[in-house]
Amino acid sequence: MRRKLVAGNWKMHGSRRFVEQTLQSIRSETEGQDAVDMAICPTLVHLPLAEAALSGSQIALGAQNVHAATEGAFTGEVSAPMLKEFSVRYVIVGHSERRQLNGETDEQVAKKFAAVLAVKMIPILCVGESLQQREQGITHQVVLSQLDAVLDRSGIEVFSQAVIAYEPIWAIGTGITATPEQAQEVHGNIRRHLAERDGAAAENCQILYGGRVKAANAAELFGQPDIDGGLVGGASLKADEFASICESAS
Ligand code: PEP
Repeated sequence: MRRKLVAGNWKMHGSRRFVEQTLQSIRSETEGQDAVDMAICPTLVHLPLAEAALSGSQIALGAQNVHAATEGAFTGEVSAPMLKEFSVRYVIVGHSERRQLNGETDEQVAKKFAAVLAVKMIPILCVGESLQQREQGITHQVVLSQLDAVLDRSGIEVFSQAVIAYEPIWAIGTGITATPEQAQEVHGNIRRHLAERDGAAAENCQILYGGRVKAANAAELFGQPDIDGGLVGGASLKADEFASICESAS
């Protein structure tokens, strides 16, 4: 039986004060919540503060991005071994904002995914189609080709220790949420695609939904057979909202 995971992506939000206070509130509001995996991904500069604030709690630390190389002349970048030193457990790779705004390619995302696994952290691989692609009827081709770029480089077995987040771009930060049925259809296809290569990896892989998940819609989304939790943006910035989403996943 797969556990559910709720991961908060704080994007470029927060201050020292916000991080300390919000993590303290999330800790107390999710106290005793051991039926669900939980993680918060703050900005890079807030990782040390967040590491201290989450120490000894059930909430894991995540990062929003990583460079594929271990070290080198890459100004402004941070490597997987560096993140590992701050107790980071999950690393988001291939978020649509990075694909769109930073021009990240499938190949770069696949390299980042491999770099995260190489130091035994867990990649959260984001895949998802634009509104135009959905309207063209090519959602599944887009999502599966993003997935194949990673499968071809890292193989199927590692998906037992990896997380996939299906995030339709048209539902991120827009106020529109995919219906549970729309999300389940894509999640089911992703799992079948994995199962064609390895049944056990497909069964173990947590596939999250992301795109305007909030307390009001989480239970219905998480009730779908192939939705194993959520990657949560805006709603994860409010401790009570994040805690309610975790409650819906338990
Ligand atoms: C995200 O960017 O990963 C996300 C899902 O954002 P939101 O929940 O705000 O739509």
